[in-house]
Amino acid sequence: MVESLRSVVRVVNGVVTHEGEGFQVRRPFPTPALADFDPFLLLDEMGPMSLAPGEAKGAPDHPHRGFETVTYMLAGRMDHRDSQGNQGSIGPGDVQWMTAGAGVVHSEMPAKELLEKGGWMHGFQLWVNLPKKDKMMRPRYQEIPTERIPKVQVDRSVVRVIAGEAFDVRAVIETRTPLLYFHVTMAPAARLQLPVPYDHNVFAYVTGGRGRFGAERRVVTEGTAVLFGPHGADVFVEAGSSLDFLLIGGVPLREPVVRYGPFVMNTKDEIAQAFADFQSGKMGTIPAERA
Ligand code: MN
Repeated sequence: MVESLRSVVRVVNGVVTHEGEGFQVRRPFPTPALADFDPFLLLDEMGPMSLAPGEAKGAPDHPHRGFETVTYMLAGRMDHRDSQGNQGSIGPGDVQWMTAGAGVVHSEMPAKELLEKGGWMHGFQLWVNLPKKDKMMRPRYQEIPTERIPKVQVDRSVVRVIAGEAFDVRAVIETRTPLLYFHVTMAPAARLQLPVPYDHNVFAYVTGGRGRFGAERRVVTEGTAVLFGPHGADVFVEAGSSLDFLLIGGVPLREPVVRYGPFVMNTKDEIAQAFADFQSGKMGTIPAERA
């Protein structure tokens, strides 16, 4: 049988930068080296870090339009509030999938306990672009607690299926375009061949340990993204002494991307409109906190 494995086309090191009130993130893209990876616009890894009391920071009220923000926590807890009246708290293993669409103002802040007592913080935020036809859709909010995220064990690897489908296990989150988002944890020296849809752009981001990826068995260590080429049915992975990674993929939109800060549209005029709409209050404000 002819092997049909995805090839590694690029390895991208995460760049350390700061977001929101000044919390540190590791970011494989966007950076000067890589603007985006259609349909994905950004990936940030927060931590892992140990925070002293009073040290936790967040991102107070700010808008988004034209895409989705996906937050996945492994340690620590973030509180969310938005102009649609959604209020949530995302802890270890939980996922928040926010479709900003036409516009949302939200705040992403450390939970009171994390701020007061300090503790471990580790999480990810992914920005998923919306197709032109959905950029002005009504905002949507999905919050999935850890116990509702399906898990599948394959030999000595565990795959958490946040979006898409792996080994006949289907995610509960609904996406606008076909996407996959897996969190894979592998035992030392374990091997895995993960089927991925032929029409998806796919990348891995190593969050812990090291492993060999792709047809070339390229060695990749934590804090690094591996971009795969378009051909091949499976992603091959072999763990080193331990390996933990995200596998993320989606059908490319192949549409113009014009981004400015929290807005991602198709034209400069649409970006100007987004600013005008935000400034005139059309994206709303966050309602006063419920008791
Ligand atoms: Mn945000």
